[in-house]
Amino acid sequence: MTTVYWLTRDLRLDDNAALHEAARGSALVCVYMIDPRWFEPGPFGWSPMGPHRWAFIWRSLVALESSLNALGQPLVVRWQRPEEGLPEVVNAVGAQRLVASRPAAFDEMQQWQAIEAALPFVHCDLVETLTLFDEASLPFSLDALADTFSKFRRSVEKSGITLITPLAKPAELPAAAIIPDADQRQLGPVPAQSETPFAGGEASVADHLERYLWKDQSILTYKVTRNALDDVSASSKVSPWLSNGALSVRRLTAEIARFEREVDRNESTYWLYFELLWREYFQWYSRRRGRELFISPGHKGRHSGSTDAGKFRRWLSDPATHALVRAGRVQLETTGYLSNRMRQIIASASIYEGHFDWRLGAAWFEHFLVDYDVASNYGNWQYIAGVGADPRGGRVFNLEKQASQFDVDGSYRKRWLKEP
Ligand SMILES: Cc1cc2nc3c(=O)[nH]c(=O)nc-3n(C[C@H](O)[C@H](O)[C@H](O)COP(=O)(O)OP(=O)(O)OC[C@H]3O[C@@H](n4cnc5c(N)ncnc54)[C@H](O)[C@@H]3O)c2cc1C
Repeated sequence: MTTVYWLTRDLRLDDNAALHEAARGSALVCVYMIDPRWFEPGPFGWSPMGPHRWAFIWRSLVALESSLNALGQPLVVRWQRPEEGLPEVVNAVGAQRLVASRPAAFDEMQQWQAIEAALPFVHCDLVETLTLFDEASLPFSLDALADTFSKFRRSVEKSGITLITPLAKPAELPAAAIIPDADQRQLGPVPAQSETPFAGGEASVADHLERYLWKDQSILTYKVTRNALDDVSASSKVSPWLSNGALSVRRLTAEIARFEREVDRNESTYWLYFELLWREYFQWYSRRRGRELFISPGHKGRHSGSTDAGKFRRWLSDPATHALVRAGRVQLETTGYLSNRMRQIIASASIYEGHFDWRLGAAWFEHFLVDYDVASNYGNWQYIAGVGADPRGGRVFNLEKQASQFDVDGSYRKRWLKEP
């Protein structure tokens, strides 16, 4: 049996249940699709894929390709819409099976359904690789997902749900099914120069965790440092690798548990897991809410604000806009990263001070964030706008108070606004 394995946000060999599933046949094709729509302007002007994430994904693909090559597998990279390109690849090799990771959001699920429809005689299988838990092991049905994070967390923690043991890298893979001239990577845009500090691939995140967890043991103070605006070791900085799947959240959780067994456990070590539960909640929330995650009133039926993207862009740099917001814009657009606190501050300011529709900020983040994750990004924006999972109906941050608490000496603003 020949299998086509479509890689998406699972750019790894470690703990990759989809790869294990795909490797059950006698021949394999590993394919990554660069969708030209990623680079086309969206409704507010920004394309979904900005320079930092594209550079990071490119680096991740290069690393993945060399790991696959070591197991005798090429990586075929296509510049094509998946719903057109995948049926072509499947038919070219006469594959009986197509395997991919289960998508997190509405559009990606629609796309998968179109691919399945185009391949009526092929087994099309989705495998969970993005989440900590499997849907079947959740202590509730997806339809009954809690409407707030706290209820979700309590229900998961009370249920004694067991963490799934991560899978090892496959020792070998089936023979490569070759399609002549299938690779089209040269057709896609060359990654731009990016100042994003993140190196792509599994080896780089392994080095990063070695330093963060085991050498510096920064996890031991995570709960007290995590709100810092701009300090490399204040939070784990694993989000880019979690986002494109070079790091499995199950592996990360197992590493935190190993650290707690072998070194120490305290409130901070638990808190990193707690934040991963936030990520987990938003993954299930996205699947539960579907299209509602992307509409202005969310599932609560309220919210209004300007959708004028030109005005939003001007507001971001306007001297009358709070300096924290202006500094955050520079950091985001230069590096592709913002701390959680800065993301909250900017989201709140754009919604409650600039009076913009939250989807403008979400689209801007989507373009620039190196760690863009559809569920976490849209889930958090809706949360702050009060149209999603926030029981308090929205989060309004007092900017002066935030500045005096988190940027006491103004160094964050000075650094990014290049003020003396
Ligand atoms: C408006 C807004 C938009 C956001 N967009 C994204 C996004 O596109 N991609 C993304 O990964 N995170 C997003 N977040 C969540 C959070 O800001 C980032 O995950 C975090 O800043 C990444 O840095 P870190 O890895 O050092 O996080 P840490 O503080 O070290 O946390 C560890 C991990 O826990 C998860 N996590 C932490 N906080 C959250 C949260 N509030 N929601 C969901 N997961 C969380 C992330 O996977 C993170 O990598 C957003 C938050 C806000 C307020």
